Amino acid sequence: MDAASLLQALKTHFGFNSFRPYQEEIVSQVLARQDCLAILPTGSGKSLCYQLPALLSEGIAVVVSPLIALMQDQVQSLQKLDIPAVSLNSSMTGTERYETFQQLDQQKLLYLSPELLLTDAMQARLRSLKVSFFVIDEVHCISEWGHSFRPEYRQLKCLKAQFPSVPILGVTATATQKVATDILQQLQMRETNVIKGSFDRPNLMIQVKDRNGTRDQVMAFLKDHPGHTGIIYASTRKGVDQMAKYLQTQQIRVAAYHAGLSDQVRAQAFQQFLCDDIQVMVATVAFGMGVHKPDIRFVIHLNMPQNMEQYYQEIGRAGRDGLAATCMMIFNYQDVIIQKHLIEKSGDPLVQAEQRRKTDQLSAFCQSVTCRRKSLLHYFGETYSQEGCKACDNCLDEIEDVDGTIIAQKVLSCVYRMKQKFGVSLVCQVLAGAKTAKIRQFNLDQLSTYGILKEVPRHDIRFYIFALINQGFLYLTDGEYPILRLTQLARGVLSFDTKVRFRKRSVAKVAPKQLVSDGPYDEGLYQKLVALRRDIAQKERVPAYMIFHNKALIEIARHFPRDSVSLLNVNGMGQRKVGRYGDQIIDCVTAYSPV
Ligand code: ADP
Ligand code: MG
Ligand code: ZN
Repeated sequence: MDAASLLQALKTHFGFNSFRPYQEEIVSQVLARQDCLAILPTGSGKSLCYQLPALLSEGIAVVVSPLIALMQDQVQSLQKLDIPAVSLNSSMTGTERYETFQQLDQQKLLYLSPELLLTDAMQARLRSLKVSFFVIDEVHCISEWGHSFRPEYRQLKCLKAQFPSVPILGVTATATQKVATDILQQLQMRETNVIKGSFDRPNLMIQVKDRNGTRDQVMAFLKDHPGHTGIIYASTRKGVDQMAKYLQTQQIRVAAYHAGLSDQVRAQAFQQFLCDDIQVMVATVAFGMGVHKPDIRFVIHLNMPQNMEQYYQEIGRAGRDGLAATCMMIFNYQDVIIQKHLIEKSGDPLVQAEQRRKTDQLSAFCQSVTCRRKSLLHYFGETYSQEGCKACDNCLDEIEDVDGTIIAQKVLSCVYRMKQKFGVSLVCQVLAGAKTAKIRQFNLDQLSTYGILKEVPRHDIRFYIFALINQGFLYLTDGEYPILRLTQLARGVLSFDTKVRFRKRSVAKVAPKQLVSDGPYDEGLYQKLVALRRDIAQKERVPAYMIFHNKALIEIARHFPRDSVSLLNVNGMGQRKVGRYGDQIIDCVTAYSPV
C-alpha cells in the first residue's frame, strides 16, 4: 500500500489529516507482516498503529490488553467510528461472551485478556478464523524488570510457537533497555524490529517546587488553571483521603482513588473522571494503567514518586491530545527519607540497592537546576541537543544561588533551643519575634534565638525552614501535628563544618505556554462547541472526548467551517463524525458567527 492510500485510509476511518511521528513506519511494518516492538511515549498514538492496519488486513486482529477498562474504552471509541471491534473479558455474562464468541468472524479487532487468549476454546476458535496479527498492548507487563509485571503475561511466550505465521506487534511506553531486551527475548523477536521513538513530550510544562504548605500550593495551582481537569498523586491512601477531603471543602469537584476503596467506588470515580463529572482525581499509583483520557491538563505530585520511570509515566498521562499541560511536583526531602526507610524494611539486598539508587536519581533530579527535560531524556538514553526547553521551571525561573550558612545556623539553633518540640509555624514565629499567647505560655520569648530573624520577611523564614528540610538538615515527624527535629547533618552546620546554600527562585516574566501554539481561535465559539459536545456525550452516555477531541474543536473555532466539505478538512473530523454530528456543528458555527 502506498503512502497516499495510507493517508487516505487514516482520514476516512479516523478523521486525522496526518500521521504522528513513527505511526506510519509501524503501520507499514505491520502491513508487511513483520514482528515489531514499538516503544513510544504515552500519548503518541500507539493504538492507531494497530487499529489502522487491522482495518486494512484480511481477518481479525487480536489485541491483548492487561485491563478491562482499557479494552472497553478502546472498543467504545472504535464503535463510535463504526469500526467493528469487540472485547471478551471476565466482566461479561456467559451469554454475552457466547454471543460475542459466535460473531467473531464479523469483527476486525478483538480485545482480550491474556488468560482468555490462552484457553483451549479460544485457541481453537482463533484457528478457525484468520488472525491478521497479534498485538500485545502494555507489553512491558511481560517483564519482571518492569514496574508492572503481570504473571499472566508470561504465558504469551508460547504465542509464537502456537501461531508461527502470525506477526506480533508489541507496544509499550516503558523505555529502559533492560525491559526492552527482556521483551524481545520472551516474544522471540529480533532486535531489528524495534522502533523506538523520542520520549520528549514538548507540550508538557515540567515543574518541581519545594514544599511550602502543600494545600496552599495546590489551591494556588488550581486557581491558575480554572476548570482544568487533572490528577493529583499522593503516595499514601491517607494522603489521598486528606487532600480529597480538603479540596471538597474548597468547592472543587473531586474524587479519591486508591486500593483501599471498593471496586465499585473506584469504578464510579473512574467513570466520573472520564465524563468530566469531577475536575480532580486525587489518587495513589493505583490510578494508573488505563488512564487514557486525552484531555488531562495537569498532573500534580504531592510526594516524590519512587523512580524516574514511575514519575515520567505518571506525568505522561497529561496532555495526550498534544495540547499544553502542566506537571508540578511538590518536593520535600522528607519523602526521600521515608522512601529509603521503606526500602530498608523490604526484600533482598540487591533489589534494595537498585531501589535506593533510583530514589537518589530522582531526588537529584528534583534538586537540580538544569533543564528538567534534558535530565529526563538523558535518563531514558536520549540526548537533548537544544540549550534549554523553555518549558520547565529551571529554564523559565531566575535562580539565585546564595550562601545561607548563617541563616541556617540561626534556624537550626532555634529548633534546638525550642527542644525540638514544636512545628514549623511556631518556630517561624519565634525566629520572627512574634508576640503571641502561645509564645508567652511556653516562655519562648526568653530564648536567645527569639527574634533573631526579625528583619527577614515571615514568608522568607518559612522558605528557609523548608529549604533546610528539603536539603536534609531538618525533618518533620509524622502525625497530625508534625514537629521539627534536627538531623545528623545539622550538626555539621552548627559546628561551621558544612556550608549551606539556598537557591531562591523568582519566576521570570515569561508568559506560560498557550493551550495551542498554532494561532488564535475564538474562545466564545470554542466554549459553545464544548457545551454542544457535552450534550451529545450525555445523550449517548459516553465520555466527551470520544465524540470530539479538544484539538478538533479548537480548529473549528479557528476556521469557522460552514459546510460539510470544510468541516471535513478539520483534523480529527472523519466522514462518520461529519455525517453524524456535522449539521449540529455547522448550526452552532452559523448561529455564533455574526455574519
Ligand atoms: P498511547 O497508547 O500511545 O498512549 P493513544 O493511542 O491512546 O496513545 O492515543 C493518544 C491520542 O492521540 C488519542 O486520543 C488518539 O485519538 C490521538 N491520535 C492518535 N493518532 C493521531 C493522529 N495521527 N493525529 C491526531 N491524533 C491522533
Ligand atoms: Mg495505549
Ligand atoms: Zn527546560
